[in-house]
Amino acid sequence: MSTTIESADKYMFQTYGRFPVTLVRGEGCRVWDEEGKEYIDFVGGIAVCSLGHSAPIVTRVLEEQSKKLVHVSNLYYTLPQIDLARLLVENSFADRVFFCNSGAEANEAAIKLARRYANEISGTGKHLIISMDNSFHGRTMATLSATGQAKIQTGYDPLLEGFRFVPFNDLNRLEQALDESVCAVMVEPIQGEGGVVCPDPDYLKGLRKLCSERKATLIFDEVQVGMGRTGRLFCHEHYGVTPDIMTLAKALGNGLPIGAMLSTEEFSRAFGPGSHATTFGGTPLVTAVSTAVLRSILDDGLLEHCTSIGHYFKERLEELGRKHSLIKEVRGLGLILGVELNTPGAPIVTACQEAGFLIVCAQENVLRFVPPLIVEKDEIDRLVETLDRILDKN
Ligand SMILES: *Cc1c(COP(=O)(O)O)cnc(C)c1O
Repeated sequence: MSTTIESADKYMFQTYGRFPVTLVRGEGCRVWDEEGKEYIDFVGGIAVCSLGHSAPIVTRVLEEQSKKLVHVSNLYYTLPQIDLARLLVENSFADRVFFCNSGAEANEAAIKLARRYANEISGTGKHLIISMDNSFHGRTMATLSATGQAKIQTGYDPLLEGFRFVPFNDLNRLEQALDESVCAVMVEPIQGEGGVVCPDPDYLKGLRKLCSERKATLIFDEVQVGMGRTGRLFCHEHYGVTPDIMTLAKALGNGLPIGAMLSTEEFSRAFGPGSHATTFGGTPLVTAVSTAVLRSILDDGLLEHCTSIGHYFKERLEELGRKHSLIKEVRGLGLILGVELNTPGAPIVTACQEAGFLIVCAQENVLRFVPPLIVEKDEIDRLVETLDRILDKN
């Protein structure tokens, strides 16, 4: 074992089951480890590095902005933060943006806003939040209480009160659960960590309708599927519905830590000065980079590329599915694709790594592919050929 890994095991909390690889450099869809071995990266920092590693625009803006202003706190206005907020509002259903530092924090903000809105409009008693079985919303106490996975909640009792779970893609169960005490419904338009589970065609429309009828706030957690991942800037655009609140993080900064909560004007009014805050949220450094990332996604043909290459990728995986009985189903949209196996995925992930490809599982048995949006056909072909070979042997 390398001394790097020994030191990590000695000095750091053992919170991650890491792969025994130390990465030192990246460029585009490639990364290299300490020994100089090259990998094609189909993880992209978990759906984060959409423009690829060492993207020139990111490097340039980082350098320029770091010479101007890195951080001053939200006691003052800064220009990049306003630019990013304007660009997000101009390209979404939303009227206002709150910046923070991660997906969990964006969801915390959404939960707080929904509660405060309900308290202002309806008084106390309307405070329950419904989320989905198998969902993932983060690791803080509130967001893990909203996460429908026992393995993430185990050992943290008492969890926060006020969360109720229903199965994803089940409007009947949602309707039954949506009583007077419910203030919000929180859902990922496509469940990422849950195993790349897509909504049935009319599910999100039905969800929107029920929420409007019962006066429950609809929150879309687009932390993983937003920012162009599915071929539209936001995943919900595919389904012809808009939420009241949306959260973003992962790809928003291409690797710099940033989260955002967006909402319509009506909902935003429930937050006033002092009602919510963060020291770091939306620093000039990070928002300058994010603005460049968002512009690039919108202006450089990345959405079109994601749609066509994602389609190609899915077809190639479906071909594999017809050939290998280990593959149960191929799912996903754009460049979030999942291959459900009849067997644990870990040995396949390891074999891919040995062959020079980074991939990751969602749940035990779903191979998940969330590469940079700039991934090319020959990179996909090489991965698919490798998977074909590995599946032959397993
Ligand atoms: C990753 C993720 C989060 C949590 O984001 P962090 O930045 O890790 O806190 C929340 N929701 C979804 C859908 C995610 O994929």
